[in-house]
Amino acid sequence: SKDTGKNKFTLFDVTMEEELNRNSLITEVLRHAIANKEIYVMYQPQYNIRKEEMTGFEALMRIHNPKLGELTPQEFIPVAEESGMITELGEWILREACLFNKRLIDCGHDSLSVSVNISSVQLSKANFKDIIQNILEETGLPAANLELEVTESTLVSSLTNASVQLSSLKELGVLISLDDFGTGYSSLNYLTNMPIDTLKMDKSFVNNICSNAKDARIASGIINLAHSMKLEVIAEGVEKVEQLEVLRRNKCDIIQGYIYSKPILPHVLFETLIPASED
Ligand code: C2E
Ligand code: CA
Ligand code: CA
Ligand code: CA
Repeated sequence: SKDTGKNKFTLFDVTMEEELNRNSLITEVLRHAIANKEIYVMYQPQYNIRKEEMTGFEALMRIHNPKLGELTPQEFIPVAEESGMITELGEWILREACLFNKRLIDCGHDSLSVSVNISSVQLSKANFKDIIQNILEETGLPAANLELEVTESTLVSSLTNASVQLSSLKELGVLISLDDFGTGYSSLNYLTNMPIDTLKMDKSFVNNICSNAKDARIASGIINLAHSMKLEVIAEGVEKVEQLEVLRRNKCDIIQGYIYSKPILPHVLFETLIPASED
């Protein structure tokens, strides 16, 4: 009836308004997050299953607001990208992650590296290389310990020529990894045209690797393809022993997932880290 229609419209209206309100609330939170110390970083270990050793960490951004509580990256990253604030937040986490890794090196863990997610907004900036170079100089982190994670959609939507930008970043000595591999566009193009060191196989393949024969074959295909191009493979979102076994059989290099560790706070990590042996 007419009434129901009107109610539906009102309901839809309210939802839209609520979402807009939430977005402007998030924008407001982001504007002050750094100054208010509402932003922090969790680090998720990456474990080499062939060498049986921890190789590094992925830095993951977190925001805790007194009023809104914990915001997930899925909620605030898109808002930060739209408003342009990702540039400042992205620079902040890069500096934090480099300081963190420098501290690890100073504790003797000099083979560990840190990976930082890079938004297309950041990669599009002409001065991005200078920003990276400055942060490396400021923090004293060797370039080879820093890995920049870009997704295929980042490479598609970057305004400047992404391959030129990545090549100039590689000149600094940093590593590049292709994140969420297999979910995006014409994936195979990027493997040949971009200077990539690591391939991160998306968790959607890992999820069904034991239950779905097709996914298992795709996963094994991705690993072989990557190896034939001299790339290291990281499997994301590994949660179960059975998944780990299949990945091991298929010669996957590194895993990142709850089975080894959830993302952890840096102080917890430094408390539990075994002191590096002097040899
Ligand atoms: P991502 O880069 O694919 O990061 C991996 C996500 O998978 C993380 O979610 C991590 O907590 C989660 N994860 C790790 N192991 C497992 C597992 O075994 N099972 C399951 N179910 N999940 C697992 P998180 O931290 O919520 O981050 C979500 C996304 O937000 C990231 O996906 C990344 O795209 C984005 N993001 C996070 N931090 C930053 C940042 O500093 N800058 C940018 N531009 N994006 C970021
Ligand atoms: Ca690495
Ligand atoms: Ca990532
Ligand atoms: Ca990913």
